[in-house]
Amino acid sequence: MFDIIIIGAGIAGMTAGIYVARAGKTVLILESKTHGGQIVNTLGIQNWPGETEISGVDLAQKIYRQANNLGAKILYEEVMSVDVRGDGGFLVKTDENEYSCRAMIIATGTVPRKLSEKQAADAGERPISYCATCDGALYRGKTVVVVGSGNTAKHETKYLENIASKVYHIHHDDPIPADAEAIFVAIGRVPNTTVFDGLVELDADGYVVAGEDCKTSHPGVFVAGDCRTKQVRQLVTAAGDAAAAAAAALAFLREG
Ligand SMILES: Cc1cc2nc3c(=O)[nH]c(=O)nc-3n(C[C@H](O)[C@H](O)[C@H](O)COP(=O)(O)OP(=O)(O)OC[C@H]3O[C@@H](n4cnc5c(N)ncnc54)[C@H](O)[C@@H]3O)c2cc1C
Repeated sequence: MFDIIIIGAGIAGMTAGIYVARAGKTVLILESKTHGGQIVNTLGIQNWPGETEISGVDLAQKIYRQANNLGAKILYEEVMSVDVRGDGGFLVKTDENEYSCRAMIIATGTVPRKLSEKQAADAGERPISYCATCDGALYRGKTVVVVGSGNTAKHETKYLENIASKVYHIHHDDPIPADAEAIFVAIGRVPNTTVFDGLVELDADGYVVAGEDCKTSHPGVFVAGDCRTKQVRQLVTAAGDAAAAAAAALAFLREG
């Protein structure tokens, strides 16, 4: 039985792990992919205090080492479901194991929104990417299309114009041009919260409803980072949430 299980090892989850481990409680962080979360593909972060510029991978490694050295254990397993135990604690089931805890912090972040069914059908077997910086170089001299209407799509289009021979920029309901050889999707992000539907209140877009105290609608369940309802989704706000969620979870353990 762990005192606290944290789901997601992005910046929010790992920072929460630092706070819980420093408080002397047992903590397990479960991560389905790689620690660091969505920032790992970003090359130059300039708004993390204390670093003039740092890559996402380097920042993730630094926070990982700090959490690990303090005793936060990270396992690479995907959480598939959470059951409430008879004693009020939680049974967290992953694709490999089951773990019990007294309190839980959801820090599962967001993923890129996928193409509509119609555009996905149009795309067929053509490669789909969600990151021009990561994959753009693979399409040097080729024809590509960027799907999306916001600033990110504009930024991706400009970036690819220096690499591809032709770049279409279309909206989320336009047909995919037949001659495009790769599709870059930039139509926003959605929270990774379907696992928690029914356990905690979600808003209409699927974000976990919680205020600055990071308490969800279910006692003993807290939320931190981009998957929470809030205005600003950035690294420092993810870390700020983590401190609030960990403090609230530790108080819950003390009161329980
Ligand atoms: C391209 C890009 C550039 C950015 N640049 C900046 C920047 O320069 N400065 C800045 O401040 N912010 C930037 N951001 C925003 C910043 O990355 C996010 O605000 C921050 O990373 C959110 O952290 P998080 O821990 O809440 O979520 P995430 O980073 O999304 O981490 C969530 C983690 O949970 C894991 N997970 C999800 N579901 C499960 C499950 N069921 N079981 C186990 N694990 C699960 C995921 O695999 C992931 O690792 C950028 C974002 C993007 C996409």
